[in-house]
Amino acid sequence: MKKLIIGNFKMNTKPSEFKNYAMTFATKTKNSKNDIVICPPYTHLGVAKEFFAGTKIAYGAQNICEEPKGSFTGEVGADMIKDLGATYVIIGHSERRAKFKESDKLINKKIKTALACGLKVILCVGENLQTRNAKQACQFIRKQIDDDLKGIYENELDSVIVAYEPIWAIGTGHVANKRDIAKMAQTIRDEIEHQFSKKAASAITVVYGGSVNISNYKNLLTTEGLDGALMGGACLDVDNFAIIAKENY
Ligand code: PEP
Repeated sequence: MKKLIIGNFKMNTKPSEFKNYAMTFATKTKNSKNDIVICPPYTHLGVAKEFFAGTKIAYGAQNICEEPKGSFTGEVGADMIKDLGATYVIIGHSERRAKFKESDKLINKKIKTALACGLKVILCVGENLQTRNAKQACQFIRKQIDDDLKGIYENELDSVIVAYEPIWAIGTGHVANKRDIAKMAQTIRDEIEHQFSKKAASAITVVYGGSVNISNYKNLLTTEGLDGALMGGACLDVDNFAIIAKENY
C-alpha cells in the first residue's frame, strides 16, 4: 500500500550539504511508489527546487508566517515558499508550540493562510507525557484538532494531513505502540467526523511521528488506519531514509 513519507530536517544541515543529500536521495528513490515530502530549512528550498523538480519528491517548509506579507521582519510568507516550488508546510510542530509559544489560535491562522495560498498543510498534534499518564490524551488531541481546524471548509481538508506526534516520543527513542497509534488515528478520524463528516473522516490522511527509524519503520507503518510517517532524526541519514521511502508497504 502506498504511504506518505515525510522528512523534517528541523534546523540541521547547511544548504551546501543539502545539495549532496538531495541529489543522492532523488536518485535512490526514483522508483518509489510512495508519496515523499522533504521539509528542510527555508534556506534549502532553492536547492530542493533544483534537485527535486521533475522527480516525484515534493518538498515544503517547517513553518510560515500567519500573515501573507508586510512588515514582519524575519518572517517568511506562504507565497514565498510557494514561489520556490514548495507544496507543503508543517504547521503546529510541538517544538514551535513549546519553544516559540505558538497557540492553537495562531496555528489556526497559519493553516488558513497556507490553504489560501494553495499549500498542503501537515498539522502536527500530540500530547505530552503528563497528559498521557493522566489518560487525557484522546481528549487533548480532539481539542487540538477542533481548535486548529476551526473555520476550515470541508473541501479544504483534501489539503490537510494530520501528523500524530506524541511529544514524549519525539527524538527520545520511545515510540508509541501500534495499538495506541491505531487508537489515536481513529480518535483523529472521529473528531474529523464530529467537526465535518464521515466522508471527511475516512478521507483524511493521518501519519505518525516520534522516533520512527530504520529498525522500527516497517512495524509502525503497518499500523491500522495509518497513512504514513513523519521522521526527524531518521531523515538525516540519506541511505536509511531512502530505504524507508522506497519500501513497498
Ligand atoms: C519530528 O521532528 O517531528 C520527529 C518526529 O522527530 P523524530 O523522528 O526525531 O522523533
